[in-house]
Amino acid sequence: MFCDLHADTPTRLFTKAENIGVSLEAIRSLKEPFLQIFAIWQDPKHPDRSDAVLDAFLSCLSDFCLVTDVLPTSNSPYAMLAIEGGDMLRKDLSRLDFYFQKGVRFLTLVWNGENDLGGGHDTTLGLTAFGKAVLNRMQELGMVADLSHANEKTFFSVAEQGGRLFCSHSNARAICNHTRNLTDEQIRAVIQSDGIIGLNLYPPFVNGKTDGTLWDLLPHIEHICSLGGAKNLAIGSDLDGIDLFLKGGSNSSFFLELREILEKSGFSSQTVRDILGENFLNKFCNF
Ligand SMILES: [Zn+2]
Repeated sequence: MFCDLHADTPTRLFTKAENIGVSLEAIRSLKEPFLQIFAIWQDPKHPDRSDAVLDAFLSCLSDFCLVTDVLPTSNSPYAMLAIEGGDMLRKDLSRLDFYFQKGVRFLTLVWNGENDLGGGHDTTLGLTAFGKAVLNRMQELGMVADLSHANEKTFFSVAEQGGRLFCSHSNARAICNHTRNLTDEQIRAVIQSDGIIGLNLYPPFVNGKTDGTLWDLLPHIEHICSLGGAKNLAIGSDLDGIDLFLKGGSNSSFFLELREILEKSGFSSQTVRDILGENFLNKFCNF
């Protein structure tokens, strides 16, 4: 089974954009069970639009099986829901319950810049008191904090609270030096927590360029494995949230080529299955 831990498809559908990356056509071409975490992104230019994006997305999700608990048996592709940017809570804890009831199970605490919860990778603000309250309520509800985009200060404050760390779409900074990527210290913390790192396909976070190939993900995979993270790796493509692509990486069919690359690179068939989906399923799909 293939799992993709991050795509921004709901906003693209809402704005009637063309060339959707996570399309049913691409998913069907995989000929494998498939799970996508769809993120409702808080667009700073349209801060009041996000609830409408979520409702519109929920109303057109009939081709998917929405997962809010253990994975049900289904022939349809699976969908899970995330919110990207804690500012969507508008400093109101009850809005966490509101989103939980709608089926949202992941919250990316911060996006770029600062918000009421903490600081993004391009800031120095740590986890705020409201951010801590949000984390506590998320724990009670059974929601997962997504630490992609967080700066190290915010990241390690969350790490201190215990629990599995989850970074849905971030790469290794030792391979590609960008603040959106994870330092070795962060990667070790995720591994130690038995958490998950989903690798991002956006070329500037993969190889620092504006293009490349899916092979460019391999150094990230090898590096994280060298730190002991073979059971912590996953994929979080960032499709429909990016405008630059690796060759073959512009829609969900990339999983087929990536599987071939991993097989050719000497990973065991179990490790290939782990990275492409099973690690995530084993750790996060039994709320
Ligand atoms: Zn993102």
